[in-house]
Amino acid sequence: MSFEWTPHRFSGGALALDVANSVILRADPDKRLDRFAAPEHLSAFPAAAEVLCAERDDFTRLAPVSMENQSHFLELREKVDAFYRLKAAERRDDPVLLAELLEAIARIFRAHAADGTPEPVDLATARSALRLIAMPEPDRLKICPNCGWLFIDRSKNKSRAWCDMAVCGNRAKARLHYQRKKRKDG
Ligand SMILES: [Zn+2]
Repeated sequence: MSFEWTPHRFSGGALALDVANSVILRADPDKRLDRFAAPEHLSAFPAAAEVLCAERDDFTRLAPVSMENQSHFLELREKVDAFYRLKAAERRDDPVLLAELLEAIARIFRAHAADGTPEPVDLATARSALRLIAMPEPDRLKICPNCGWLFIDRSKNKSRAWCDMAVCGNRAKARLHYQRKKRKDG
């Protein structure tokens, strides 16, 4: 099946969350799918993020992650997901997960101490993750009840329920409709 980095895949509202959301159905071992596992998708991600990521004004140009930094980038992704998922679910900062996230961020800053532009995507992700730690309204950090993606709710009254209304919102509505109909018919 063909795959594209569509606007839906940048529903996170922050680069660090879009990167975390590159793992589909993370909690389901049978259906879990890592979009970065295919090298061509991983290398196409930065160019898509330049155009589609909510934080795109922060990094006009992004370079792909280098081969030698790839494992650190993927580790940062997992630490971002672990820390922010718990923060969204339980509204607290877990000190151990925070320490691990900060270590993953620090490793990437150290690896890029001498780099210029365009900014490598792993460094931009580390900066994004760092910004999120101090986000002013942590209750805007949410987990999509349909797909499990992390996202920032930037709506005026913090009422956004889905990562993407057009995709997950509609799927959930269709499912509800189907269940109601089944109950009525059956
Ligand atoms: Zn969703």
